[in-house]
Amino acid sequence: MSEKVVPRCPVCKQPMRLNHRVIMDILNGLIHEECGTDIPIKDKGTAEEMLNKYPMHFSNLKKRIK
Ligand SMILES: [Zn+2]
Repeated sequence: MSEKVVPRCPVCKQPMRLNHRVIMDILNGLIHEECGTDIPIKDKGTAEEMLNKYPMHFSNLKKRIK
């Protein structure tokens, strides 16, 4: 099992914080809004909003980044 402590932005490699503005791509990956992605975007908001809106994609992460 691979476990991530916090979601990291695949572009800048920095850990995300709940108040960061992020975009969710269609593969359910989170990227900082300011870093951007070529993958089509499904949603965007703060990391906290994405975690609350799509908890099924982040069940391992949610508890860890509170
Ligand atoms: Zn980033």
